[in-house]
Amino acid sequence: MTGRAFIPLIPLLNTRVASSRAYATGNEPHTPPTGHVADKLGRPLRDLRISVTDRCNFRCTYCMPKEVFDSGYRFLRHADLLSFEEIARLARIFVSHGVEKIRLTGGEPLLRKDLHKLIAMLASVKTRDGTDVDIALTTNGSVLARKAQQLAEAGLKRITVSLDGLDDAIFRRMNDVDFPVRDVLNGIDVAAAAGLAPIKINMVVKRGVNEHEVVAMARHFRGTGHIVRFIEYMDVGTSNRWRMDEVVPSAEIVQLLAHHFDLDPVEPNYSGEVAERWRHRDGSGEIGVISSVSHAFCRACTRARLSTEGKLYLCLFAGLGHDLRTLLRGSELQPAATDSQLEAAIGHIWRARDDRYSELRGPLTAPMPKVEMSYIGG
Ligand code: SAM
Ligand code: SF4
Ligand code: SF4
Repeated sequence: MTGRAFIPLIPLLNTRVASSRAYATGNEPHTPPTGHVADKLGRPLRDLRISVTDRCNFRCTYCMPKEVFDSGYRFLRHADLLSFEEIARLARIFVSHGVEKIRLTGGEPLLRKDLHKLIAMLASVKTRDGTDVDIALTTNGSVLARKAQQLAEAGLKRITVSLDGLDDAIFRRMNDVDFPVRDVLNGIDVAAAAGLAPIKINMVVKRGVNEHEVVAMARHFRGTGHIVRFIEYMDVGTSNRWRMDEVVPSAEIVQLLAHHFDLDPVEPNYSGEVAERWRHRDGSGEIGVISSVSHAFCRACTRARLSTEGKLYLCLFAGLGHDLRTLLRGSELQPAATDSQLEAAIGHIWRARDDRYSELRGPLTAPMPKVEMSYIGG
């Protein structure tokens, strides 16, 4: 910590999700990071999701419905986005606090120009014991065929592709921009050939819309090495007008799959794994379910999220983010923060975390403003 005095930041108005306050001032007492920082519930900081753009070429009805994200919607200006250098600097600080996995997301991350350059920067970050940080990406797959090779060469290790069905008409309706299934499947093949296999395939299941695609998806990817994960439709943000009766609980999905396949449960790979995993008994592959609504996993949630404009969110359902960009860039009121000031600020924010929205979900949480998935990243 330098001796410079920091003036507490004035709360900023964030028009997209109510107000966003800076809970850290850059003035926090500094003790060097030890590679372990725990929040109020004893949860360490292990994963960081970074949203690199709030824009997307899809308008998935459960995420960016056209009625809201139309030509009048004000997306962030380029100057508001964190630069790759700013992202890499923050990533190094998060890693010094114990982050081992970084996932790039959005919006559609592959729409951010030269993303492979950011991946190369992040791939050079090492943990305290000198191991590589695990760099992953979630994409809608629409431009993956064109970019997979470049991403793999830059150091990307793993990808997750979102695909909500194999039936072309259903998929086009869900992405709401008439995008064909064929091109996403081709992107998956090209990515696998580029060395990004096994690939995780995320399918959000919405009652009355695509639940009939569950068995077909499991069958299609069986034997490919790729892992389909069925995700409960979540009440993230407010623009999708989520309703509980549109959620297909994971237990129902597992029951349905068990009618068609012989499945055995698989032990979690690591503590904090969000998917419950099942293996085909004949060894032909694995599937997973993510029960974000029916089965809260907040107790094991070690994930922080950095928004496109540099706000730190401690929960997917948070309404307020902590403004790291002002600390990074400085303002009329204060100079730009040093690395040790950023370390202290991030440690301070994480130690104060007590978020556990999914555990509390219900009437109590209903009136809270919530950030949109496309802004914070899934
Ligand atoms: N555009 C990329 C994509 O679709 O993969 C990355 C960003 S997207 C917000 C990340 C993930 O969030 C996707 O797998 C998407 O299906 C999922 N998602 C978005 N809205 C959701 C919701 N309301 N409930 C559950 N999952 C959702
Ligand atoms: Fe775009 Fe991904 Fe949201 Fe679909 S889920 S609208 S692809 S950000
Ligand atoms: Fe983590 Fe929040 Fe999801 Fe709970 S609701 S698992 S705290 S992101």
